Amino acid sequence: MIHIAYHESYRHELPDNHKFPMKKYSELAKRLVEQNIYTPSNFFVPNIMEEEILYLTHDTEYIERAKTLRLEKAEARRLGFPQSNELYERELRIAYGTLHGAELALQDGLSFNIAGGTHHAFTNKGEGFCMFNDIAVSANYLINKGLIRKALVIDLDVHQGNGTAEIFTNNPSVFTFSVHGKNNYPVKKEISDLDIELDDLTGDEEYLNIVAENVPKLIAVEKPDIVYYIAGADILETDKFGRLSVSIAGAKRRDEIVFGECKRHELPVMCVMGGGYSKDLEVILETHLNTFKVGKEYYS
Ligand SMILES: [Zn+2]
Repeated sequence: MIHIAYHESYRHELPDNHKFPMKKYSELAKRLVEQNIYTPSNFFVPNIMEEEILYLTHDTEYIERAKTLRLEKAEARRLGFPQSNELYERELRIAYGTLHGAELALQDGLSFNIAGGTHHAFTNKGEGFCMFNDIAVSANYLINKGLIRKALVIDLDVHQGNGTAEIFTNNPSVFTFSVHGKNNYPVKKEISDLDIELDDLTGDEEYLNIVAENVPKLIAVEKPDIVYYIAGADILETDKFGRLSVSIAGAKRRDEIVFGECKRHELPVMCVMGGGYSKDLEVILETHLNTFKVGKEYYS
């Protein structure tokens, strides 16, 4: 059984001129069922996570500021979303979706979160539409509970997983792997356990070679108990911010390499969406839907 975390609050109300494509969340949930890729029984509604769980990953004062809507002006601007109680609860649900999804993946093999991959959230700050780091919160929880010894983060969003890298610096329980655009946000990169920087306009062949070369190697060497996979749709040639030249078919091939290799090792996978900023929402949806289809192909 494949599990999918989703709650209607994932599609958050934003000011009219806001550039973030919130609609993709509700559309994905709808189409996964409409197109018979999954049934409602695959879905679970993530709770609003208990705040104590955040303390394993994030700074107490930062959590308090976020909770009481007292992020400083510059801090809120870097985050990119207006502060509200609804947003705070949404972020706790998304983090719980990745946390509980990972628990279910340990039992059943594969889970998705129709959001998540909030990899720009650091220990004590949020930025780039990321308040709390869902993968870090989830991995720290599983480690703390003794459910896993080691996690591998395969971050194939086009932006560097800078927050994840910072949170797990010098932490041998989580290996952070990030493939990202050299000239993309964030300007100042952190140091992951393995970073691969891509030039502008990197296309399918080069991109897929990098994935096919590194993913099997990392799984073999690190021997993780779970893989967290950020399947960002912002690697596409149509993406407004991505700067790469990967096709929709190339992104699907990427998913096949990752899921195929994880399945070959019978590894539990927690897959999250990451970014996607193509002008045409249909392109974003097609790419994410492919990820759900490929996961199903390998894991059911
Ligand atoms: Zn991104």
